[in-house]
Amino acid sequence: MRRWKCKVCGYIHDGESPPDICPVCGAPKEMFIEITDEQPAPGKTADVAKPGARKEETPDVKANWMFKQISKHHLHPISVHIPNGVLPVSIIFLILAALFQKSIFSTVAHYNLVFVVLSMPMVLFSGFIDWKLRYKGIMTFPFKIKIGCGIVVTLASLLLTVWLFIDPQVAVASPLQIPFLIVCLVLLAAAGLAGFFGGKLVFND
Ligand code: FE
Repeated sequence: MRRWKCKVCGYIHDGESPPDICPVCGAPKEMFIEITDEQPAPGKTADVAKPGARKEETPDVKANWMFKQISKHHLHPISVHIPNGVLPVSIIFLILAALFQKSIFSTVAHYNLVFVVLSMPMVLFSGFIDWKLRYKGIMTFPFKIKIGCGIVVTLASLLLTVWLFIDPQVAVASPLQIPFLIVCLVLLAAAGLAGFFGGKLVFND
């Protein structure tokens, strides 16, 4: 059985030929190299990384020392877990505010949403650095989804935060309660989708 490795994400494929598209990162089959034995093929060392290992930068990436440190020390997964952890709490409290018509639940959610908004610039910045350095800036389906979801999460969390400042009762009792809660669910779905594809890339499955 021949083995192939994706040069972008490190995914391993067993078969006579590489897959048309990498099931993890969406890279085309041209990005696969054959693994002939335990050792990488001569001249291919820089392109082959163990799953989960740090990828080598492409020569055209002019990353300075700070960018390399951000990627090396996993700032993106660290920072992204702030909104991914706090967001569901916010949305749960907003739904509770609507169900039980309790302003205190909405207030709790509002404070949490402020933390989400404050964390997003670092999430987006570190994600961009990781994408350029680890994944060679390849613009395939998983990365389009992640970038799109990152933008949706940023804008939606900002919208909800400002909305709650303008109308603190919007989740509790308001003609705009349903549209407000729909934005909440869109926000939650976007964060979940970004996390799903992030997990696929990190764990190579
Ligand atoms: Fe891949």
